[in-house]
Amino acid sequence: MAHIDYDVIIAGGGVAGIAAAAALEEFGWSVLIVEPGQHADRRLAGELIHPPGVAALTELGLFRGSCFNGSVPIRGFIAFPGTENDLSEILLPYVEGQSCDRGLAMDHARIRTDLQAAAKALPYVKTLRGRVIGVENLGSPTSVAVMDSGSILNLS
Ligand SMILES: Cc1cc2nc3c(=O)[nH]c(=O)nc-3n(C[C@H](O)[C@H](O)[C@H](O)COP(=O)(O)OP(=O)(O)OC[C@H]3O[C@@H](n4cnc5c(N)ncnc54)[C@H](O)[C@@H]3O)c2cc1C
Repeated sequence: MAHIDYDVIIAGGGVAGIAAAAALEEFGWSVLIVEPGQHADRRLAGELIHPPGVAALTELGLFRGSCFNGSVPIRGFIAFPGTENDLSEILLPYVEGQSCDRGLAMDHARIRTDLQAAAKALPYVKTLRGRVIGVENLGSPTSVAVMDSGSILNLS
């Protein structure tokens, strides 16, 4: 059973895990993201990130305009409050003039893969394919067991 040390181990390479890894940059810690991988075809796919989310990902250096290629910019919503035959609209635009006044919509799996690529580019972040199956000795040193393809890796 191999033994590897990190300052921070994050279980899950979704939006939250990757945003957390990017936010830890200022501490100078070594960070490992453990992610088993997801079956994109088993999940309803479309996803919308509202302007504050786009602004936060930009601030964290995870969205540089070149990533999220193929995304659709979103300016707000249209509600149709009437009946089937009444197509009168109510426009619900995002507030303009903010630092970021556009949302974006794209396939969920693409958001994940683009964010995971951005996280891999961070010099203090490593990624590991696997599933966290146990955490022991909360405190120092904490031990984290990761399972991948039937073998167990012990991290701390
Ligand atoms: C159908 C659907 C539509 C949605 N649409 C929107 C939308 O339009 N806009 C919006 O803002 N939100 C939307 N959401 C919600 C949004 O997808 C979630 O809030 C967001 O993905 C949560 O991010 P997360 O990183 O916390 O979790 P996830 O994206 O679920 O990531 C968690 C990760 O942890 C991994 N993981 C799980 N267990 C372990 C383990 N033991 N060890 C290691 N890794 C593990 C998983 O593989 C996964 O990759 C939608 C959700 C669904 C289901």
